[in-house]
Amino acid sequence: MSLELSADQKTLRREIVAFARRELGPGAGERDREASFSRELWQACGRMSLPGLCVAEEHGGLGLSPIDTAVALEALGYGCEDGGLVFAICAHLLACVVPIARHGRDEQRAHYLPGLVDGRLIAVNGMTETESGSDAFAMSTTARPVPGGFILEGRKTFSSNGPVADLALVYAATDRAKGFAGGVTAFLVDTDSPGFSSGQRFSKMGLRSCAIGELVLEGVFVPEGRVLGGVGGGGAIFAESMNWERALLAASHVGTMERLLETAVGYARSRRSAGKAIGKYQAVAHKLADMRIRLEAARLMVWQAAGKLESARDASLYASMVKLAVSESLVESAMATVQVLGGYGIMTEYGVERVLRDAMASTIYSGTSEIQRNIVARWLGL
Ligand SMILES: Cc1cc2nc3c(=O)[nH]c(=O)nc-3n(C[C@H](O)[C@H](O)[C@H](O)COP(=O)(O)OP(=O)(O)OC[C@H]3O[C@@H](n4cnc5c(N)ncnc54)[C@H](O)[C@@H]3O)c2cc1C
Repeated sequence: MSLELSADQKTLRREIVAFARRELGPGAGERDREASFSRELWQACGRMSLPGLCVAEEHGGLGLSPIDTAVALEALGYGCEDGGLVFAICAHLLACVVPIARHGRDEQRAHYLPGLVDGRLIAVNGMTETESGSDAFAMSTTARPVPGGFILEGRKTFSSNGPVADLALVYAATDRAKGFAGGVTAFLVDTDSPGFSSGQRFSKMGLRSCAIGELVLEGVFVPEGRVLGGVGGGGAIFAESMNWERALLAASHVGTMERLLETAVGYARSRRSAGKAIGKYQAVAHKLADMRIRLEAARLMVWQAAGKLESARDASLYASMVKLAVSESLVESAMATVQVLGGYGIMTEYGVERVLRDAMASTIYSGTSEIQRNIVARWLGL
């Protein structure tokens, strides 16, 4: 079994890294300070089909396999210093576009996918509510059947891309008696629908160039043709989308961890203290060695989890394990990099503190570390 990238994968990686460095990196610090999302950069990503990496070519995507998508997202995380933008692309692709590509009817795919892939449309996934986060089925958003469709009432929160989205993938209870499996339905809601508004926009410690806010649904009519995957199928669609998000968002973190390692090693070689490079002090060198080991382990776990995504029965186990391990590794490596850079690690102009602030959210979104451990424990029969 070879773990080397193929020639095509190397080309894919090289092109995305070059694009991200050239077009997405400049101004990242300013966008972080101003908490501004850039639609122009989103459209530039669209010209590279990044919002639709694994979407079939007939809908404008690159038709990449999950493992090739991991290679591409790792390259994006490595080359792009704007962590909020990387997160926004991943949330759009993995929690919204993938479910439409995998469960949409032909008409839904033809209607939405080309724009979602080429940068014209931005999508948001709405599951979390103020009173239901980890316990997702405690949701109070409902969908009531009416002639020709459903009326949606409720309020979603912490929705990534919410304030700038054109399309919302909204999960609502259609039959409480059936529980999460069978009682939740996924709806494709155009954000210009009457009764839909974007509510509060949140200020955050990190990922500040990704706009996050509420989705407010006040008597929004959604036609029957905008139900994704059938009435009652929303729980399964959400669970599958979380497998994709957990496994492949982690790929972008691998890229970020590689960039952090290069920064930390470069600094440890050149910064001198008491007559020698700080990297010659074992206390510093061991931090860097641990960063390298976490990086290699993270990459292997991502490839393993990605390989399970399309059909394996235990895909959710591997997605939870990789999500947990890589998000916690990312936080550790970001903290180590700040420490190695000393005072410069704290100063905003070096960009390292921004990576740490961005990283902190990774152990919370897509299900917290505690929830991932619960899932792994369930697979152990506990
Ligand atoms: C940056 C960011 C982006 C996000 N994007 C989206 C999005 O696009 N769409 C969306 O729907 N949601 C999104 N979320 C919401 C995210 O999924 C939730 O924040 C997360 O699932 C946790 O829910 P909560 O915040 O309500 O915390 P809670 O569920 O209230 O948890 C609080 C604490 O209790 C712990 N806890 C809760 N239940 C258990 C349990 N059973 N066992 C052990 N520990 C437990 C948690 O681990 C946590 O430490 C986003 C969140 C963030 C931070």
